[in-house]
Amino acid sequence: MRVLITGGAGFIGSYLAETCLEINDEVYIIDNLSTGSLDNLKHLQEDSRYKDRLFVHVDTIFNDKALLELTGTCDVVFHLAAAVGVRYILANPLESIRTNILGTENVLKHCARFKKKVLIASSSEVYGKHLHAPLLETDNIIYGPSSKSRWSYATSKLMDEFIALAYHRTNGLNVFITRLFNTVGPRQSGAYGMVIPRFVSQALHNAPLTVYGDGTQSRTFTYVKDVVRGLRALVDSEAAVGEVFNVGGIQEITMLDLARMIIRKTGSGSRIELIPYDQAFEKDFEDMQRRVPGIEKIKKVIAYDPKTDLETILDHIIAHMKNSAAAQ
Ligand code: UDP
Repeated sequence: MRVLITGGAGFIGSYLAETCLEINDEVYIIDNLSTGSLDNLKHLQEDSRYKDRLFVHVDTIFNDKALLELTGTCDVVFHLAAAVGVRYILANPLESIRTNILGTENVLKHCARFKKKVLIASSSEVYGKHLHAPLLETDNIIYGPSSKSRWSYATSKLMDEFIALAYHRTNGLNVFITRLFNTVGPRQSGAYGMVIPRFVSQALHNAPLTVYGDGTQSRTFTYVKDVVRGLRALVDSEAAVGEVFNVGGIQEITMLDLARMIIRKTGSGSRIELIPYDQAFEKDFEDMQRRVPGIEKIKKVIAYDPKTDLETILDHIIAHMKNSAAAQ
């Protein structure tokens, strides 16, 4: 199959590219390198098995000429290009909204023109501030006021889902909507807020681990390779067309326990420092207290199994960060 991955030089996009190349897909990437990096693709570009099947275009999803050519060429589009990371979104609110809403509409418009399948990478952020678990695709959604800019990200991702579903209903476009829950693995950057690379880096430097709030907030973390295998499998499923799916893991952990686990696994002398939210972020910042997906729906349509446990995921990330530090 010929696949186009928007945001293919990003953390998740680059793993998806690898998974597709492994099963003999031809892979086209469009990425403006705003948060992605060609370093994420270097090992694939240097691999002789892939060199005739990997094509990288450094460009934006607002370039109609490039999109026209690429969507015309490919059989399926994985739309992963987006503003990502809580820190990035708070620092770049306008650009984030434009990329996530107008950029997605542009991709969908081109897919509709050529009647190409398209998978939309939405986010667990769309659920807003629920406390119950597990979160189901049919759940209501609870947001805070528009004065708190975090909700603009949740709203823009939700709008992506509405636009995609509208294309499905109006044009018969084959869309697949996925809500990704805290996807983690080697190469993820801590620069935009992501907690695991931040804690591991702090632990390896024997610096305090910066746990925000009281550390009782919890997440489930999913290994990026388990996630991208799921994304690739979904677009082959007829039953998944026009549907919304949670894609995540089910092993819940608080940030305080995560920090303790990382200190233990790295053998670090770091201590834990509780940082009040108003010092870590802007005034009135709201965190999500809890986020656990229900994954029964996706399991009904594909053999989805987020089997890599947190201990193993951390082993991979710690080894990668140690190697990168040694190489510098
Ligand atoms: N977090 C933290 N310390 C950090 C970075 C993040 O305690 O240095 C917390 C953050 O407040 C949130 C959780 O870790 O409760 C996950 O944050 P991340 O930005 O990785 O993802 P989110 O689930 O918020 O999108």
